Amino acid sequence: MIVILKQNHDPKQLDELRAWLEEQNVAIQANYGVHSTVLGLIGDTAAIDSDLIEALDIVETVKRVSEPYKKANRKFHPENSVIPVGVTTVGGLDFAVMAGPCSVENREQLCEVAHAVKAGGATILRGGAFKPRTSPYAFQGMRESGIDLLLEAKKQTGLPIVTEIMDISHLDAFADVDCIQVGARNMQNFELLKELGHCNTPILLKRGLSSTIQEWLMSAEYIMAGGNENVILCERGIRTFETATRNTLDLSAVPVIKELSHLPIIIDPSHATGISRYVKPLAIAAAAIGADGIMTEVHNNPAKAMCDGPQSLTPAQFAEMMREIQAIVAVRR
Ligand code: PEP
Ligand code: MN
Repeated sequence: MIVILKQNHDPKQLDELRAWLEEQNVAIQANYGVHSTVLGLIGDTAAIDSDLIEALDIVETVKRVSEPYKKANRKFHPENSVIPVGVTTVGGLDFAVMAGPCSVENREQLCEVAHAVKAGGATILRGGAFKPRTSPYAFQGMRESGIDLLLEAKKQTGLPIVTEIMDISHLDAFADVDCIQVGARNMQNFELLKELGHCNTPILLKRGLSSTIQEWLMSAEYIMAGGNENVILCERGIRTFETATRNTLDLSAVPVIKELSHLPIIIDPSHATGISRYVKPLAIAAAAIGADGIMTEVHNNPAKAMCDGPQSLTPAQFAEMMREIQAIVAVRR
């Protein structure tokens, strides 16, 4: 971290700042120029609040030269992380495909979709059991019994399962889940993230609706700092001024994350667009740009879906999309 001081600063206040910084266990390298004084802070500055320093009378500006996330940072872990999810992995050479309904609705629906996505080439079955809904009057999900049905579909198809947790008090119900999803709305639920850092299950961390990439990586850091380093990032579109799609897919997050972090990143074109006909082109773009996989919603009867029908693919549309994705993945290799 670099602290640039104002000209003609009060030397007494500088002494106080130096003493305070030394208490934070960082060494100070001071450079007294004719026009400005610059303090270089050496050591672990992750816990230092740069805004607090910037607010001081004697300080002109503060610049971070190293990122506040350490465990998620590629600098300290140059190799890509490969995250095991049941019998498969995310982040390796294979392209991960998480597919399934927005919500688990009943046995017939889930099992039909599970077999269909497996046949189409999915590697992981998704399905929401605990649903974060904008309206308290909307279908809230089957909760624990939805997870039981996912486990049944897993037994039938052999596909590992991913499903969303909304509250840590539900964790026991997730004991046999292969990957726990933290939804966009909970990306900065720091108490939830801390608790998930103490479990061994891989975490799929979706990007918050209005979160920067740095905030997203800091949320990954919360989980990793607790000891759980198996984190997969999911870009699912962010809020912008655009209304033609439900959200705006930030595809540039893929190369940016690849540069900053060793964690795998997948793309969710379903929640990004909210419109099923846009899912295939963006899924293809995700494969082409170097994402480690996708998450897409598939429903056996989208018109009757209890949640997110307009963005859900039919099994036939999913199979067609997969044929094109597999062609891109073959070229990537
Ligand atoms: C979901 O995957 O079902 C979901 C609710 O996604 P998001 O958190 O990205 O809105
Ligand atoms: Mn959904």
